[in-house]
Amino acid sequence: IGANLDATIARHGDREALVDRAQGLRWTYAVLGEHVDRLARALLAAGFTKGDRVGIWAPNCAEWTVVQYATAKVGVILVNINPAYRWHELGYVLTQAGIRGLFTAASFKTSDYVAMIEEVRGDCPDLEQVWVLGQDSWSDLLAGAEGVDDERLRNAGEALSPHDPINIQYTSGTTGFPKGATLSHHNILNNGYLVGEVCRYTEEDRICIPVPFYHCFGMVMGNLAATTHGACMVIPAPGFDPALTLAATAEERCTSLYGVPTMFIAEWALPTFGDYDLSSVRTGIMAGSPCPAELMKKLIAAGIDEMTIAYGMTETSPVSTQTRTDDEFDRKVGTVGQVAPHLEVKVVDPVTLETLPRGEAGEFWTKGYSVMLGYWGQDEKTAEAIVDGWMRTGDLAVMDEDGYLQITGRIKDMVIRGGENIYPREIEEFLYTHPDVVDAQVVGVPDTRYGEELAAWIRMREGAEPLTAQSLREFATGKLAHYKIPRYVRIVEDFPMTVTGKVRKVEMREITVDELG
Ligand code: ATP
Ligand code: MG
Repeated sequence: IGANLDATIARHGDREALVDRAQGLRWTYAVLGEHVDRLARALLAAGFTKGDRVGIWAPNCAEWTVVQYATAKVGVILVNINPAYRWHELGYVLTQAGIRGLFTAASFKTSDYVAMIEEVRGDCPDLEQVWVLGQDSWSDLLAGAEGVDDERLRNAGEALSPHDPINIQYTSGTTGFPKGATLSHHNILNNGYLVGEVCRYTEEDRICIPVPFYHCFGMVMGNLAATTHGACMVIPAPGFDPALTLAATAEERCTSLYGVPTMFIAEWALPTFGDYDLSSVRTGIMAGSPCPAELMKKLIAAGIDEMTIAYGMTETSPVSTQTRTDDEFDRKVGTVGQVAPHLEVKVVDPVTLETLPRGEAGEFWTKGYSVMLGYWGQDEKTAEAIVDGWMRTGDLAVMDEDGYLQITGRIKDMVIRGGENIYPREIEEFLYTHPDVVDAQVVGVPDTRYGEELAAWIRMREGAEPLTAQSLREFATGKLAHYKIPRYVRIVEDFPMTVTGKVRKVEMREITVDELG
C-alpha cells in the first residue's frame, strides 16, 4: 500500500489528493505524501514496527487518511474502531486486538473520546500511548520523525510482504457482536483498485465520501480506490450530514458520490434538494445494504447515469460483485452486478452445501484474493466462515443465466410464514412503489398460528396519510400474494441503525415483539 501511494505521488504529485471541508484543508498528493512520511517516521521513532497494532477511533478527517497510509508504510496493523462505540466496546477492541497505540479525536458530537479512553485504560494493559489528532500528543509524536532517516523508512517498507496483515476491520455488528476481519495489503489494495476500475476512475475524478473511513466502504472503496487512480477524496463532514454532502458534491464539482441507501434517501428527501447542482456527478457507489430499485431510478433520473451498486462484506475486502457503468438499465437498478474481476462465486444450498443451478436461491459463497486472512484471535469462527478458501457470506442470492446476482436477504432475516419462505427484501421493494412511502423495512415476528408474521416499519412522506394494516392490505391486494402482505404496520420517523447506516433488524424485531405483547 505504501509503495503504491508513492507511485501515485510520483505520477500525480501536483494534483489534489484530499479536501477536508470541515477543517478547510486542501492537500495535493505531494503534500499528502509529506504528511504520511512524517508520521511513518514518527511511528518508527516511537518504537512501532511491523505487526504491532495501532488503533484509530475518530470520525472522518484528513488525519485519518494520514494514519491509514503511514501505518501501512511501516507495516503497523491499523485497527479501525467505530466512532459510535462507547467505552465498553472500546475496551473490548483494545484488548481483543492487543492495541499498543491509539489515535483518537478529542471529541465529536456527544462523544468525549479522551474521557472514555481514561475510563477503560486501566483494564487495557497493552495500551501504551494515546495520540489526539491535531493536538499536543500528536505534535509530540510527529516531532520524533526528525530522528529517522530515509534509509530506515525505506528498510521498513522493504521488510513488508503483500500478504502481511495490515488492517483489522470490525464488521458492522448488524447481526451480532462485531468480529475483527484481518486483511492484508494484497486483499484491500486490489479490491480498492478494481472497484475504482469499474467506476472508470482517472486522476480527473473527485469522489465525495460521506461514508465512514473506519468501515471498508470509506477506507477501501473510497480512499484506496482514489489513491490507486490519482483521484481526489472529498470529505464533506466528519459524520454524515445530507445537506453538507450535497453541498460538498456541488461545490467541489465531484464526479462520484458514495452512500449506503439510507444516505441517498436522506439526501434526495431534503426540501432543498433542487438547490444543489449535481451536474458534475457521473458515477458513484451505493452499497452496504439492499439498494431499492426505485431509489436507483431516482439517482439515474438526476443525471448520475453511471451509478453502480456494489455488494460485499468486511471479510471480503469488501466487494464481491458490482454493476458496471455500461450495464443495461434493468440490471443496473435491479441487481448487484456480476462477479468482480479475479474472484469466483457460487450459490449453494445452505443445508447440503451443494452448488445450486442458476435461478435458484441459496447462500452466496465467494473465493479468491479478497477473502480475509481470518477473524483476529478467533480461529474457530474463522474455520466456520471459510471453507476450502470459500467465504460463506450468510447472504441469500440468486444468479441469472448471464451471471447477474440478486441478493434476496440475509439467511438470518428470512421469514418462514406458514411454511412459505419470504424474503423481506421483496416486500420492501414493493412498499417503495407506494407514492407516500419514503422508506420501509420488514421483519418477521413470532406467531402462534403461522410460526411467523410480517411486520412493516414505514417512514411516510411528510404530510401524507399514515398507512394502516388495512390501507396497506388494500394497496397490496392483487399485486402481492396474500401471505406476503404484512400483518402489522408501524409508522416511524427512523429505524434503529448501525453507524454504517444499516438497519438493525434484530432490534426492530425485539421492539415489535415487545409492543405486540
Ligand atoms: P455483522 O457481520 O457484524 O452482523 P454486517 O454483516 O452488516 O455486520 P458488514 O461487513 O459491514 O457487516 O456488511 C456486510 C453485509 O452487508 C453483507 O453480508 C450483506 O448482508 C450486506 N450488504 C452489503 N452490500 C449489499 C447490497 N448491495 N445489497 C444487499 N445487501 C448488502
Ligand atoms: Mg456480516
